[in-house]
Amino acid sequence: RLPVLVGGVIFQEQPRQMVAFMLDNSARKELEQRKDDFISMASHELKTPLTAVKLQVQLVRKRLEKHSQHEAVTALTRVEGPVNQLERLITELLDVSRMQAGKLEYRREPVDLNELLREVTAPIRHLHPGRTILISGSVQASVIGDRDRLGQVFTNLISNAIKYSPNAEAVEIDLARSKDAVMVHVRDHGLGIPREQIERVFERFYRVTDLGQQAIPGLGMGLYIAAEIVKHHGGTITVDSAVGKGSTFTVILPLLRAALSS
Ligand code: ADP
Repeated sequence: RLPVLVGGVIFQEQPRQMVAFMLDNSARKELEQRKDDFISMASHELKTPLTAVKLQVQLVRKRLEKHSQHEAVTALTRVEGPVNQLERLITELLDVSRMQAGKLEYRREPVDLNELLREVTAPIRHLHPGRTILISGSVQASVIGDRDRLGQVFTNLISNAIKYSPNAEAVEIDLARSKDAVMVHVRDHGLGIPREQIERVFERFYRVTDLGQQAIPGLGMGLYIAAEIVKHHGGTITVDSAVGKGSTFTVILPLLRAALSS
């Protein structure tokens, strides 16, 4: 038992509660740390065998294709979908861990956002044939940053816009610029986010508690990752939303010229 000694004076009732509170707090912190360490270790441990599975599947696919084994190739394609989905989840877990530990590295290169938005939209269109994804505002707008990480931000926002629009409503992306900043809007006409939860969607592992959202699978990492990346680029990410009407996520980043002179 720790002595109930605060500032050299032994108290009776109050401080005993205070010490208990302090112990509670440090125990909680240690538990948090252990949880973070566990997530980091678990995602590393999961990634290695999954990468091996992925490589083997690719190898087998090549061999089967060479011998025109079409049926087997089709069967293998059904394995690749879930394997890729698992890989995305584990990569997100690893990203979250690295961000928590401040260990994520960013490149610094000029990135043309107009080009990037078209590039990240292509595979999403491919995954969701028939969905309308409109891009407007073809302005020239470059920023300084990590192309892959910025691509991840927009992939997350556009994928969410599609995912949380269960009636397959259109998704609109708009690119605009001012003198020293570039603004990207990703708008959907889907479920929308309740006002009292809107601030929380960028928190790590937070998911909206409404039944509509809960019915859609996810782990609440995408927006946390997006917000961290945008913050790292000196930008902001915000959301405007109404339940039953839809949501608009807005990313603002400093323009290349502005970024260079600051
Ligand atoms: P998840 O993997 O759960 O989608 P995110 O971090 O990307 O994680 O999003 C956090 C939560 O915010 C989601 O679980 C969902 O409840 C809500 N959300 C995100 N984007 C939208 C959207 N476009 N429309 C409605 N709700 C959204």
